[in-house]
Amino acid sequence: MLNDESVDADAYRNRPEWNDWTWQMQRCIRTANQLESWIKITPDERKAIDNIKGKYQWRITPYYASLMDPVDPRCPIRLQAVPAGAEMAPFPDAEVDPVGDTYYRKTNRIIHKYPDRALFLITSVCPVYCRHCTRKYHTSDLKGSYFGEAEGASFEQDYAYIESHTEIRDIILSGGDPLTYGDRRLEEILKRLRSIRHVEIIRVGSRYPVFLPMRITKEFCQMLSRYHPIWFQTHFNHPKEITQDAAAACDRLLSHGIPVQNQTVLLKGINDNIDAIRALMTGLQTIRVRPYYLFHCDNVAGVSHFMTTIAKGREIMRALLGYSTGFSSPKYVLTTRLGKIPLTEEYASSTDNGYRVTNYLGQTMDIRHV
Ligand SMILES: *Cc1c(COP(=O)(O)O)cnc(C)c1O
Ligand code: SF4
Repeated sequence: MLNDESVDADAYRNRPEWNDWTWQMQRCIRTANQLESWIKITPDERKAIDNIKGKYQWRITPYYASLMDPVDPRCPIRLQAVPAGAEMAPFPDAEVDPVGDTYYRKTNRIIHKYPDRALFLITSVCPVYCRHCTRKYHTSDLKGSYFGEAEGASFEQDYAYIESHTEIRDIILSGGDPLTYGDRRLEEILKRLRSIRHVEIIRVGSRYPVFLPMRITKEFCQMLSRYHPIWFQTHFNHPKEITQDAAAACDRLLSHGIPVQNQTVLLKGINDNIDAIRALMTGLQTIRVRPYYLFHCDNVAGVSHFMTTIAKGREIMRALLGYSTGFSSPKYVLTTRLGKIPLTEEYASSTDNGYRVTNYLGQTMDIRHV
């Protein structure tokens, strides 16, 4: 539905269709006027919505908009989803792909960077476009995605790559958000992957538990459980996102034997403080979701304004380790062309203008980071 009408937010939330994910997807917010039904848009937000036109796409599910603080522009939900002027500001050293996804791209959809596992980017579409997406070029840039013209191409060459690389035992479905496809399409993909003997585990990376938990239906979980071992990786960034709906979605996955792990991005002004991260990590435990990674924000074009310092990240990690349940502490890492670098002294030592990082193979590179 591309109409520009505003709605009565309270009445909307009370409709029985609110819990139907397809109804929500058809009513995603794409204009300032629609967003105005949920929050009081600031002049900067309004200007940014105009300025990014023709450059970045944005959209927000009604469910995620309903978590926003209607008056506080610094609300961590708003900052993740509502465009900001800073996205268009040039930033020193910013790159479209600082983590080298394109460098390790072996087929249209396969990124094979580590020996025994590969990313399978099955779509470039997401229900909400995170303003801080590492693959912002792929997901949000209107000039195109990694797929370009090949968006609709057959998956055969991607399957063939996995089939011929018997060292791959772990496939991570990612994108974009894989759950944007319907269950039937996803089942075809899982069935095909399961026909490959050396694929031992399949991970599904999705932010639907945070953006539209209604997508995680019982039927969907039952379908997934037919292709075990399946692991789920999601992306909560702030304790405000741990709602009853999100908890119920994670519970449905867990009760079908699907472990749920979480990856958080450390974002300036959103969660770069001890209280937010501690509440997030302990809150995730109460819904039985295991903290896995804390990603340092990379210098991605259009995302740089969210970068914080490694010193800050380390300070937050020091406040967790030992003070809280062992698995409150995710692994704090920086993603580089050399892979994920644990941000401990052993793997990242400071230099005059940044850090010298070392990967698991002992390869080193210097990065400029404040
Ligand atoms: C992060 C990542 C993986 C998975 O890494 P794990 O540490 O096993 O979770 C695989 N491939 C690519 C390209 C990645 O960026
Ligand atoms: S859900 Fe993931 S892939 Fe999609 S915009 Fe957010 S970070 Fe990027």
